[in-house]
Amino acid sequence: MIHLILFGPPGAGKGTQAQSLVDYFKFMHISTGDLLRGEIAAKTELGLEAKRFIDAGELVPDETVIGMIKNLLDRICTVPGVIYDGFPRTVAQAIALDTMLTSCKEGITALLSLEVPHDELVKRLLLRGESSGRTDDADVATIENRITVYGQKTQPLIDYYTKLKKYHPIEGVGSVEEISARLISKVKSL
Ligand code: ADP
Repeated sequence: MIHLILFGPPGAGKGTQAQSLVDYFKFMHISTGDLLRGEIAAKTELGLEAKRFIDAGELVPDETVIGMIKNLLDRICTVPGVIYDGFPRTVAQAIALDTMLTSCKEGITALLSLEVPHDELVKRLLLRGESSGRTDDADVATIENRITVYGQKTQPLIDYYTKLKKYHPIEGVGSVEEISARLISKVKSL
C-alpha cells in the first residue's frame, strides 16, 4: 500500500495539492491542520487547547497530534493509499508514524517536498488570510513565526527521510495544474 507525505513550509500548497492527488489517486487524505480546526469548531477540549498554539503560530504538542493519527490507524492500515498533509511535522512525530505503520506491516513510500521561496510563502499566506479568515494567516508576525518554527522543528525531517532514501523535492512555484502534474508524475515513477 502507498503512504505519501506531502511536505513543505506553511503556504507551500500542501492542502491544495493533497486535494489534487486525492482526486487523481482516490487515496485517503489526512490533514492534521483540518482535524485540529474541526476540533476547534466543535469546541472540544482538545480544540480549545490546540487553538492557543495555532493562533500563536506554534506547533500543537506532539502527543496531541500523534493521538489523533492513532485514532485513524485502523483505516490507515487497511486503505490502498494515504496522503499525509501537515503530518509529521517533527522528528518525534515521524518516529511515531513509523512505529504505527510498522505495527500493521506498512511503511512510508515517499516524502514529496514542495519547494517555495520565503517571500512567495508570506505573500500566499497573507492572501489566504484575507479570503479564509484563518486567524493564523492574519498577520505577518504570526506567519513569520510559523516559517521560523518550520525551519527549526520541521525541516530536520528532510534529513530523516533523505537517510531513508524517501525524500523527493518538487518545484512548488507555478500554476496549481503544473504542480499537480509534477506530483502525479513523481508518484507514478515511485
Ligand atoms: P499550514 O501548513 O498552512 O501552516 P496547517 O493547516 O497544516 O497549515 O496547520 C495549521 C496549524 O495547525 C499549524 O501552524 C500548527 O499550529 C497546527 N498543526 C497542524 N499540523 C500539526 C502537526 N502535525 N503538529 C503540530 N501542530 C500542527
